[in-house]
Amino acid sequence: MQPASQSHLLPTFDRADLSFDRGEGVWLIASNGERYLDFGAGVAVNALGHAHPDLVKALTDQAQKLWHTSNLVRIPEGEALADRLCQLTFADRVFFTNSGAEALEGAFKTARKYHYVNGNPERVEIITFEGAFHGRTLATIAAGGQQKYLEGFGPISPGFIQLPFGDHEALKKAVTPHTAAILIEPVQGEGGVRPVPPQCLRGLRELCDQHGILLIFDEVQTGVGRSGKLFAHEGANVTPDIMAIAKGIGGGFPLGAFLTTEEAGKGMTAGTHGSTFGGNPLAMAVGNKVLEIISDEEFLQHVRDVSLLLKQRLAGLKHQYPDIIEDIRGEGLLMGIKMNENFLNTHFVVEARTHKLIVVGAGDNVVRLIPPLIVSKDDVSEAIIRLENTCLNMKRKSHTVGPSLLPQPEFGK
Ligand SMILES: *Cc1c(COP(=O)(O)O)cnc(C)c1O
Repeated sequence: MQPASQSHLLPTFDRADLSFDRGEGVWLIASNGERYLDFGAGVAVNALGHAHPDLVKALTDQAQKLWHTSNLVRIPEGEALADRLCQLTFADRVFFTNSGAEALEGAFKTARKYHYVNGNPERVEIITFEGAFHGRTLATIAAGGQQKYLEGFGPISPGFIQLPFGDHEALKKAVTPHTAAILIEPVQGEGGVRPVPPQCLRGLRELCDQHGILLIFDEVQTGVGRSGKLFAHEGANVTPDIMAIAKGIGGGFPLGAFLTTEEAGKGMTAGTHGSTFGGNPLAMAVGNKVLEIISDEEFLQHVRDVSLLLKQRLAGLKHQYPDIIEDIRGEGLLMGIKMNENFLNTHFVVEARTHKLIVVGAGDNVVRLIPPLIVSKDDVSEAIIRLENTCLNMKRKSHTVGPSLLPQPEFGK
């Protein structure tokens, strides 16, 4: 392979000089045969690990029959997946997309259209929170509100109001007759694995109900078992009006969706929205199988059991290396190691890779541990050994070159 700098790919990602030939469960096997323990899961995507036999079968069986028909005809596998998603959640209706950002775009359109058909076309504003990440399209970078993602891309898509994380007073003031919806991730993923306390999610629900505002949850990262519940908001005992999902639901096949109640979705009638590829039979075959496996209560219990062990072992690691690790946070198998200011998460990710462990950076100087949900307790023990070695080397290097005074580089997303 030619050096990455000579590749014809647009260099928007700061890629590691590493590629994989195949995967087996929680393991990735590099072109040179080296085995890496995958605690990144393609950024929380490979929920059932790599080459899960049931998913391979679901995809290849469908591939023998029919790939694509368009949404001009019925797609029975899509109706089945929508039925199942609605049985399992607050929702009555589902629209399938190919990515998380596209699911959020649909959620924004649904929220605005709801107020429009209610005779309130002025209600267009969507309130979001600092540190949020909702994708990389023009509307979703406006929703995310991060300067580094907005800069240079022209006028910012209007109608998004960003508030500080956890500032209740600012929130109450921001609600106006123009507010259409409040959008939040139950646990901020890219923003640094910051869980929203359950009482805050309940408070948002109350505020929305008081003012006739729609509540949108972005569960693109937290959804489909990642939190130890099928959806993270179940832990707070609240339901949204609209929810975006993606990442885990396709198990590695590009698939997203937005889910809505009948009421919130009532403006989305024939002709108001569309997608050429959304809900295609290949994606639906995989999505049905992923949901069948993950929605099983025993499977979710496994996620919670392994999560508890991981959290305990990480707490032990923090105890061992208090100068490197400031905090352990997260839910289920979305865990974050918050680094002390003298150590950079980006260095940690690179160092972990030399110990054949894949982890992912996040904002707020956090290292994310987001393994496939099928990860075993033995895999956790193995990861902890590699994390210990990573910490040891970080510490050694800091003694030789001193604490890093570099500004924090952007994590590659
Ligand atoms: C990854 C992510 C998105 C964007 O999904 P894409 O498939 O990359 O468009 C949106 N919201 C959250 C919370 C995410 O983690």
